Amino acid sequence: MPNPSKKIILYFPSEFVERPLTNEIIQKFGLIVNIFSASISSDERGFLGIELSGNADKISEAVDFIKSQGIEVKPLGSRISRDEKKCVNCGVCISICPVNAIYQKDFEIFFDSEKCIACGSCIESCPFKAIFSGE
Ligand code: SF4
Ligand code: SF4
Repeated sequence: MPNPSKKIILYFPSEFVERPLTNEIIQKFGLIVNIFSASISSDERGFLGIELSGNADKISEAVDFIKSQGIEVKPLGSRISRDEKKCVNCGVCISICPVNAIYQKDFEIFFDSEKCIACGSCIESCPFKAIFSGE
C-alpha cells in the first residue's frame, strides 16, 4: 500500500523566504517532501507547493508545525474554472496567482489550466465571483 500523502500550499512572509523549511520538515518528521511549485512575488512574499509523504500522524504534526511558524497553509483544491461570461477583465486576479496561470493579452484575461495548481487564491480575489472550484 502506498504511503499517505498530502499536497499543500504554503505562503511565507518575506522574512521566511531564505529559510530551509523543507529540510527542517524532513529532519524533524522523517517525511518525504516533494516541491511541485515555488515562486517569490514582487513584494517578496514566498509561495511553495509541496507534497508530504510518509506516516499520516507525522504529516499532521508537520502541518501543525508549519502553521505554528506563522506560515499560512492551504490545502490544494480541486479543479479551478473561470466563467468567461461573468469576467469583466478587471485584472484583479492576475497579481494574486503565484504561478502566472492567469494573464492578460490585448486587454483580455486568459486562464491557463495546465499551469494552475488549484491553490484557490484567485477565487476570493474576484469581485464578480467569476472564478470557482469545480467544472
Ligand atoms: S487557483 Fe487561481 S491563483 Fe491558484 S494557481 Fe490556479 S489560477 Fe493561480
Ligand atoms: S478578478 Fe474576476 S472579473 Fe477580474 S479578471 Fe479576474 S476573473 Fe475576471
